[in-house]
Amino acid sequence: MFISAHPPIKNIINKKLIIFLVLLSFVYMKLYSTSFFDYPISTVFIDAGHGGVDSGAVSSFSFNPLIEEKDIVLDISLKVEEYLSKQMPELKIIQTRYDDSFPSLQERSELAYKTILDDKSSSLFVSIHANSSLSSSAKGVEVFTKLENKIINLVDEDTPIDNIDLFVNDNLITLNKKQYSTSLSLSDNILESIKKNIPHVVNRGIKSDDLYVLNVCRTTATLVEVGFISNEDEVKLLLDNVYRDKIAKAISDGIIKTINNRKR
Ligand SMILES: [Zn+2]
Repeated sequence: MFISAHPPIKNIINKKLIIFLVLLSFVYMKLYSTSFFDYPISTVFIDAGHGGVDSGAVSSFSFNPLIEEKDIVLDISLKVEEYLSKQMPELKIIQTRYDDSFPSLQERSELAYKTILDDKSSSLFVSIHANSSLSSSAKGVEVFTKLENKIINLVDEDTPIDNIDLFVNDNLITLNKKQYSTSLSLSDNILESIKKNIPHVVNRGIKSDDLYVLNVCRTTATLVEVGFISNEDEVKLLLDNVYRDKIAKAISDGIIKTINNRKR
């Protein structure tokens, strides 16, 4: 029996057609299946931790008897806005507090997911805190993302109608995966920028934790711990205006890198 070494021409055409259709569907997905966590970033929420009656971490040293986390992180947050607005004048920047007030964690989170965003655009949420430890030697910067496997309802009846369109192309699982991966990337960009701008800083790495604002703000989010106010050397730096400028610039550069990466 004669067996041809070549497949029938009809099979070749079918294979080519299938490959073409698969490629076409990839192009289509790339062009049209983007949603909230793929869109360019129009808005950045900056969340200075604590405030008002909530001082956050508190420390006391001979050179300063009352050091409060809420004051240090508010100043850094305002500096981040100042730097970002100069570098990216088109960016909308919204602070959860501009003074010594105390918005609840729910209010901070709601601000992020209830603000109406520009059409086909996304946002970032950057919470800024300072650390404290019973061990006076603990020092360094660390950055937090939400837990990778925690599934959060990102769209519900609280989502403004004008924002619903941003989410329609992805299901809940995909949205949660994208929220985690974009948050990890934002955290990494900020930590890398801090390491580059302030090489002597102790790098405590990126961690995942079950933190309220990261779970509830429903956008790409990170929480930056800028240093330990319980450590004498580090708190001296954090009380120095020039050092706070450096930290704020480093955080801003990480945010800008994230925004520029999303444009591509
Ligand atoms: Zn805090």
